[in-house]
Amino acid sequence: MRGFDTIAIVDWSAGKRAPARPTKDAIWIGVTRNGEDLAPVYCRSRIEAEVWLNGFIEAEAEAGLRVLIGFDFPFGYPRGFVRHVTGSDDPLAFWDWLEARITDSEAGENNRFDVASEINCLFDGQGPFWGKPSETGWPDVPYRKAGISYDICAERRACDLAAKASSSCFQLFFNPTVGSQALMGLPMLARLRRRAGVAVWPFQDWSDAQTVLVEIWPGLIEQAVKEVQGTEIRDAAQVRLLARALAGLSPDALQMMLKDIGPEARDEAWILGAGHTDELIAAARGPVALEPPPLRNDCFALPAGVDWTPVDDALALLRDRMTPVVGIERVPLMQGAGRVLAVDIVATRSNPPHPNTAVDGYGFAGSAIGDGPQVLPLVDGRAAAGAPFAGSVPEGHAIRVLTGADLPNGVDTVVLDEDVRVGDGQVAFHGPLKRGANTRKAGEDVTVGDVAIGAGRVLTPADLALAAAVGHGTLEVRKRLRVAVLSTGDEIVEPGSDAAEGQIYDANRPMLLSLCAGFGFEIVDMGRARDDRDAVRGALDDAAARADVILTSGGASAGDEDHISALLRETGAMQEWRIALKPGRPLALALWQGVPVFGLPGNPVAALVCTLIFARPAMGALSGAGWFEPQGFTLPAAFEKRKKPGRREYLRARIRNGQAEVFKSEGSGRISGLSWAEGLVELPDGAAHVQPGDPVRYIPFSSF
Ligand code: AMP
Ligand code: MG
Repeated sequence: MRGFDTIAIVDWSAGKRAPARPTKDAIWIGVTRNGEDLAPVYCRSRIEAEVWLNGFIEAEAEAGLRVLIGFDFPFGYPRGFVRHVTGSDDPLAFWDWLEARITDSEAGENNRFDVASEINCLFDGQGPFWGKPSETGWPDVPYRKAGISYDICAERRACDLAAKASSSCFQLFFNPTVGSQALMGLPMLARLRRRAGVAVWPFQDWSDAQTVLVEIWPGLIEQAVKEVQGTEIRDAAQVRLLARALAGLSPDALQMMLKDIGPEARDEAWILGAGHTDELIAAARGPVALEPPPLRNDCFALPAGVDWTPVDDALALLRDRMTPVVGIERVPLMQGAGRVLAVDIVATRSNPPHPNTAVDGYGFAGSAIGDGPQVLPLVDGRAAAGAPFAGSVPEGHAIRVLTGADLPNGVDTVVLDEDVRVGDGQVAFHGPLKRGANTRKAGEDVTVGDVAIGAGRVLTPADLALAAAVGHGTLEVRKRLRVAVLSTGDEIVEPGSDAAEGQIYDANRPMLLSLCAGFGFEIVDMGRARDDRDAVRGALDDAAARADVILTSGGASAGDEDHISALLRETGAMQEWRIALKPGRPLALALWQGVPVFGLPGNPVAALVCTLIFARPAMGALSGAGWFEPQGFTLPAAFEKRKKPGRREYLRARIRNGQAEVFKSEGSGRISGLSWAEGLVELPDGAAHVQPGDPVRYIPFSSF
């Protein structure tokens, strides 16, 4: 089936003629044609809007464009209503019935309350229509809803419930209302649909129609509207964004929404997109794949004249200059664990959404309970989670309630099962009971509109629970940071292969790749490069194309065979950071084709320490999660150690019997010591003489 070229969204109004200067509560029409948003159209009266719509439908058809027009009022009524009024089940019969009766004028004077009175007279008792500007006048239209029993037809349609719409089609006055808009809009639709090529979704076959009329509700994208509205008139922002959202959906997604309707839709109509709020909001926001700006060329520059940079200064410089380099994508909530949240999660629903009971027991009005023995008659029925009690509980009565059930009307306090006796349709227990006992207040955990989780958070399983509870099904997260790892050196051979004399196995690459995978990054294995300038250049080119950050090991100092530093220096963006740190020879930092490169020492111990202390926090910032500080804690030393001033030292360490032990040798080629260790002991920059029992700072590997 052919997609739509033009989307128009109409915010209808039942009011009088609007002023010449655009205002809210007038008629606004948002149009997106071939993906381009046009300025919202402002119409002062319904008659003016109908003229515009006729001209629009004609012009689009002449241009060969297929059009979807959405109107923000109900196309149908709860099942049973139309038959009762017209004798037919065809909802379009009611459109014609209304069209024959409703009058309107350029000034907006109309007879909708007279017509509502006429309908109400067809129903026994009060209603179904209610609400009017004053208590006097139109005696057949009640001022308030109280006393209307919706038994011939329900008060709300299935799609109103699915969309959590706030207003009923029978409410003619008091905001928010749609009832009057429908009475004043359906006659106009009855005329529009008689034009050639126009079909009404979902009542008619719309698959080949040139122009399709659909019911929409801007409330579905309320969240996106709030984000961008600014000083724009709200109604204009709503129609503009909803037109853009529907135009921004893939043709398949829109088809799916048109087809995903409840069984009641044939009689009652349906709100396009009900049940697809997240998709619509995402489409209204537009593509989120905005790429962040690249790092500055001089981001690794060191202040002139500095010889050995203290660790903290080096970290402060990096912290200052590393900014997120990855874009944003939307993922299903279920796939959010471990991802970096890109924008704040704002609660679209309170938790709990309604006051409910925290226990199994009996609920009643707490104000009616005094001290001493209490015996309350039980109301028929019960409230359970997902099966609320529809009626009210009169004061002095009680009702059976089960954990998680919404508190019925008239109930604000619950007594526990364990504290009652039940029999003869009564429940007995001892007062006093604190009002509100054993209940949870709506929003006592999180209130709608609160920031539930802040951007930058690395999402935990519990965060997913919270995001779900406050109404989110998808999440905007940073794309995963891609980290390339490259080993260099003529002597380095692949683990498990034959090693000749003078060769050693590549120990750094498996270590660094798995370390970065553990940080939640996407790893890119670049293998090994020989000590050859062209080989290293080729490997870096390749890595820069495939990753957001590059870790190399080996060849990073100033020796003859140190091609990494030589090559990086050639590109101009290289800095050799001489950091006052042990273990760790100079760290080469550079941008290669805009991609940051951490040139780590070849020595496995130094490679690991430099990665944990420098590359780890920098990669946190690059990934969007923000600068990262490992959590260390203070423990008594189980060792003695003297150190000279001038360098910070990290010792391979672990905790045994509540004390920090260090590895017997500080030799930086000792990989067995790395494997033995479970963390690092950090000794300060100044001189130190640590004796057994002295406090030292220990940082477990697991906290990096
Ligand atoms: P370099 O930084 O290239 O001078 O290397 C310093 C030391 O680390 C030398 O003994 C290298 O053999 C060793 N080394 C370099 N790369 C690796 C690696 N990937 N795995 C194990 N040892 C390495
Ligand atoms: Mg080397």
